[in-house]
Amino acid sequence: MRPILVCPDDRGLFASLVGRDLVVRTGDIAAVPRLARVAAAHNRLCCAWCETGVPLSALELPAGIEAVPTALQVSEIGPLAEALPRIRRLKGSPVRVFLPSERAESYAQARVLASLGVHAGIWLTPGRIDWDRLDDLLHYAAYGKLERASIEPFEKALATYEPEERCDPMAVFFDDPCRYLHLAADGRVALSRQELEAGEFLGRVDAVEELLADPRYRRRANPYGESFLRFEGCSLCAAWRVCQGRHQADLPACRGFFENLLEAADMFKRKRAAKVALWRA
Ligand code: SF4
Repeated sequence: MRPILVCPDDRGLFASLVGRDLVVRTGDIAAVPRLARVAAAHNRLCCAWCETGVPLSALELPAGIEAVPTALQVSEIGPLAEALPRIRRLKGSPVRVFLPSERAESYAQARVLASLGVHAGIWLTPGRIDWDRLDDLLHYAAYGKLERASIEPFEKALATYEPEERCDPMAVFFDDPCRYLHLAADGRVALSRQELEAGEFLGRVDAVEELLADPRYRRRANPYGESFLRFEGCSLCAAWRVCQGRHQADLPACRGFFENLLEAADMFKRKRAAKVALWRA
């Protein structure tokens, strides 16, 4: 599978990337509907990634945003009375509103958004996660009975987990080198957003096939070797299959949460299997 390219909002870059799957990054929410037209002229826009840094209540939502799959990062919901008109517009749309993991209020606000029909998520920043609150939110998302919209980073694991397949919830933050490569405007490629910002590039996008054969890429895409060389930490963790050792900055707090996520994902998988059996009968 060819990786999806995460790139800045740059027409020249779009034109040089014919036939690719793109995630386009922007800080300007007004640009999102235009991206759907311009980036999609030669390529396929999988998603717009809009980092606003302001409350949802303060955003001017442009016309047409409701039709564009978007990862929308906000700082908080803001005053509910002011946020409600935005929430009504985003209800049921492919726009997912992400709140930051470092703010204690985010975990309750994600519930509010999902219960009002807006797809929501906690944007996980390793080392800055409230694991107890995240665990509470997981229980709400996995076992709650009320109708609601989805909440990431649980939804992907609950909907798609297979024990024999790779499952990396960090992919919902475009942080998974197996699925996403990050581009600078000049076409240089990094394996993550952090490495892009640090100027750690692996090669150029016009030689992407060579890049996928690079040992540095393969090591990152398959982290098993390094983690299982030591008989400690991640190598002893049952939740490896839904974490891949991605939260070692939070050891040992990460473990309880990911074990609960694995248990919930396993239960959802059995429910899916039961549905298939019923249909086949
Ligand atoms: S949950 Fe923690 S201990 Fe387990 S695999 Fe992930 S980072 Fe390692």
